[in-house]
Amino acid sequence: MKDCIKISCLALMVLLLASCSPDPVTGYEFMMDTQCSITVYERGDEAFIDGTFQFVRQLASRLDRYDESSEIFRINAMAGREPVKVTGQVFELISRARDLCEDTDGLFNILMGNISDLWGFTSAEPHVPSDEELAELTAAADISNLVLNEEDQTVYIADEKASLDLGAIAKGYASQAAADYLRSQGVEKAVINFGGNVYCIGTRPDSSPWRVGIQNPDTEYGGYFTTVEVSDCAVVTSGGYQRYFIQDGVRYHHILDPATGRPADSDLASVSIICEDGALADALSTACFVAGADKAEELCRKFGVSALFLTQSGEVIRI
Ligand code: AMP
Ligand code: MG
Repeated sequence: MKDCIKISCLALMVLLLASCSPDPVTGYEFMMDTQCSITVYERGDEAFIDGTFQFVRQLASRLDRYDESSEIFRINAMAGREPVKVTGQVFELISRARDLCEDTDGLFNILMGNISDLWGFTSAEPHVPSDEELAELTAAADISNLVLNEEDQTVYIADEKASLDLGAIAKGYASQAAADYLRSQGVEKAVINFGGNVYCIGTRPDSSPWRVGIQNPDTEYGGYFTTVEVSDCAVVTSGGYQRYFIQDGVRYHHILDPATGRPADSDLASVSIICEDGALADALSTACFVAGADKAEELCRKFGVSALFLTQSGEVIRI
């Protein structure tokens, strides 16, 4: 049996084909389990970029289920025991994510933390779980087990076998928050890339739209099969190629079908969602990947977002 795990360098997955004048300033940091970059035009210097990363780092640690000081960690630790009071921002995000679970007919599901851990996608020894283990945890991940009390601002997971995982929405949410922060500081042209969650502020310095390259799933790092042109917009890409392991010659990727707890058997190789809301783009890119091309197109129309799908057979579908 040959196990291996591949975590692609997502910072390289989305190429920003930007014009270079006036001089941009770029900072890089490894955060949220991925390579992150922020490029600011016209107003940036290194200290300013550092300050922006500090803002993002604080937000990211609050959404990190493995960070023992985070509210998400506490909610998970209290699963099946008692509701946890959280801050307004965290309550709002969980509440929004819960609504998206419902609005995507359960294809997006933020209660599958324990299922991802069972597969061990981020561990040194990922492996295929037993049918019994999967059945038990998949039943527990029913979104009705997430109980939100708006008045008390509490979050409660009613089944101890379920746990919150905001991994499919947090990077997009953080990219949006970073964009809002930069705008509040007077930045008018910038590009944020948190592991394939790109947010473009304004236009390129020559007033043309930004061109965001979409990663070719078959190439290791870099290599783009197409580009999309955007201004003031998020471009978020999900795909099974971004994180996976191989066991007994079979490839198992990290985007799970909530109905089975197993890697989604999708006819899509990658999904890119293009819209002004980074969190929505992130959640929908994951949901659409699980959905497969036909249902994903329906979802994009329902939410009024643009999208680019690459099918397993190499067809490019633009919505
Ligand atoms: P993304 O890269 O945005 O598509 O998010 C994938 C990550 O979200 C995975 O690594 C899991 O932590 C989590 N996840 C996997 N499947 C789902 C799903 N169907 N709904 C919500 N989160 C998921
Ligand atoms: Mg996502």
